[in-house]
Amino acid sequence: MRRWNGWGDESFNMALPDSAGDFLQHLLGSASPLTDATLDAVISQVPATKMPISEHFSTELLTTDPEQRVRHARGQSLPDWLAMRSGDFSVFPDAVAFPENSVQVAQLLQFAKSHDIEVIPYGGGTSVAGHITPKPSQRPVLTVSMMKMNQLLDLNTDSQIATFGAGTPGPMVESQLRAKGYTLGHFPQSFELSTLGGWVASRSSGQQSLRYGRIEQLFAGGEVETFAGTMDIPTFPASSAGPDIRELILGSEGRFGILTEVKVRVSRLAEKEDFFVTFFPNWEAAKSFCRDAAQQRIGLSMLRVSNAVETQTQLKLAGHESAIAWLERYLALRGCGESKCMLTFGITGSKAQYRATSKQIAKLSRQFNGISTGTLLGNKWRLKRFTLPYLREALWLKGYAIDTLETATDWQNVNLLQDKVEAALRDGLNDENEPVHVFTHLSHVYSQGCSLYTSYLYRCGPDYSSTFKRWQKLKAAASKVLVDNHGTISHQHGVGKDHAPYLAVEKGEQGMAVIESLCEHFDPEHQLNPGTLVDTHWLDSNERDK
Ligand SMILES: Cc1cc2nc3c(=O)[nH]c(=O)nc-3n(C[C@H](O)[C@H](O)[C@H](O)COP(=O)(O)OP(=O)(O)OC[C@H]3O[C@@H](n4cnc5c(N)ncnc54)[C@H](O)[C@@H]3O)c2cc1C
Repeated sequence: MRRWNGWGDESFNMALPDSAGDFLQHLLGSASPLTDATLDAVISQVPATKMPISEHFSTELLTTDPEQRVRHARGQSLPDWLAMRSGDFSVFPDAVAFPENSVQVAQLLQFAKSHDIEVIPYGGGTSVAGHITPKPSQRPVLTVSMMKMNQLLDLNTDSQIATFGAGTPGPMVESQLRAKGYTLGHFPQSFELSTLGGWVASRSSGQQSLRYGRIEQLFAGGEVETFAGTMDIPTFPASSAGPDIRELILGSEGRFGILTEVKVRVSRLAEKEDFFVTFFPNWEAAKSFCRDAAQQRIGLSMLRVSNAVETQTQLKLAGHESAIAWLERYLALRGCGESKCMLTFGITGSKAQYRATSKQIAKLSRQFNGISTGTLLGNKWRLKRFTLPYLREALWLKGYAIDTLETATDWQNVNLLQDKVEAALRDGLNDENEPVHVFTHLSHVYSQGCSLYTSYLYRCGPDYSSTFKRWQKLKAAASKVLVDNHGTISHQHGVGKDHAPYLAVEKGEQGMAVIESLCEHFDPEHQLNPGTLVDTHWLDSNERDK
């Protein structure tokens, strides 16, 4: 069963090796875990629902059950996590709906329209930017879970277009396609729980985007239920017929309507795939390798390089102390010492593509003094690629909080932005004399630039409120650095409520006016996911409710 107050399946835990505990204590000081609330205690606080009764809806379709309201109240951002662990949710949806088809979605929207109900489309609830957290409101809030719309509805093998229910989660997308010899190839780290509709609505990026593309390239069209009726987005291989409506839905974050059917461009399963790890002597060599691999269009399927601190942290958290010590001695002898950076990459394709890419990569790697460890560590990464999110639970139980942020920028700006973001986080709790452990990797490479993904770990405060305030300070400092230094506020996690205050810096006055006018068009009463993407409407409605 899914954890109600954290990540993933409650039967799966990831233990930290003893050496990792010592490492963290050395970096951050000893820590004590905060006390978790129980599910029963949280359920007992759920207030009476404001949802009007409708005899048209069965309790399978729309429920006001307090446990469901708890389970759909929060996503997976650190503030969400702190709310779930402390039990201090502050707001719950008034009801949760589980439609099975687009007709029911349309009925729910009509019901919401005629009763002035706010609606939050909910995919897998894996948002890390506050997308699906209800804002305080006088109006009833209905969260619409798409989990029952999870089937492959059609596969056109001529055009390689698959049609899915928008609530299909990653494992069901892949298992249904693989049974027919196809793959979507979209593997965000949240793959276990996130859904096709959520990927489209928040413009996500999968680990193998180098081969398969981001969701923007994979999303071909589909169906959206809106307050004004059904919107069909036709699938064309390409079109010059004016602005692309498909692009409007990408990143719409539930503000324009509810995606019910998603059509995606799929690929035949590759003949051969392997993952590899190579070490480079320093960041400059590793970064240059990545830039050249992207600009030479070498056919890798994924690429990710950790900076020296992330490399060291990963090796420490991996356990297997004696094997790692042996590896580090070997690498040091070959010129990869303290400042070494670990590159993980994947080669996926036909046997001929695999051979050709392997040769190109070996040549480029030699140019930058890379030391290959073959597939040994790379294929281990493949096995654990979706279990890493369980690490947050393990760290939490030791008294540490972890969060991440990500951006993208041009190659010439990578070092500057990385240094500034890391410094803002590292020094972010200086006023409390608290250290913050910060590390970054580069991934999702493009000819123009790449994404930077930074993780930061800090000690929980003596209580929930101080732990949250620490996060607020760190998040605000790093977000400001991003937007002030030519970094996007998000490369893949989206805007949600947490990034909404920073969006205008990136989009500019005219850009914001266009986005707001689209919200106005689709949702004149500001009922669809208010506060997400643009927060002005939420401020309006809050003012109105006072
Ligand atoms: C551990 C972890 C790892 C992650 N790794 C990645 C990663 O590698 N790459 C990446 O891109 N992201 C990642 N994320 C972020 C998150 O998984 C993505 O943003 C994902 O796309 C959200 O999908 P979801 O189905 O969970 O959507 P939700 O979180 O449920 O919703 C996200 C937004 O989409 C809207 N929405 C959802 N479904 C629909 C629909 N059918 N119609 C209209 N709107 C809808 C919601 O209203 C909301 O605004 C990660 C998150 C976690 C917790």
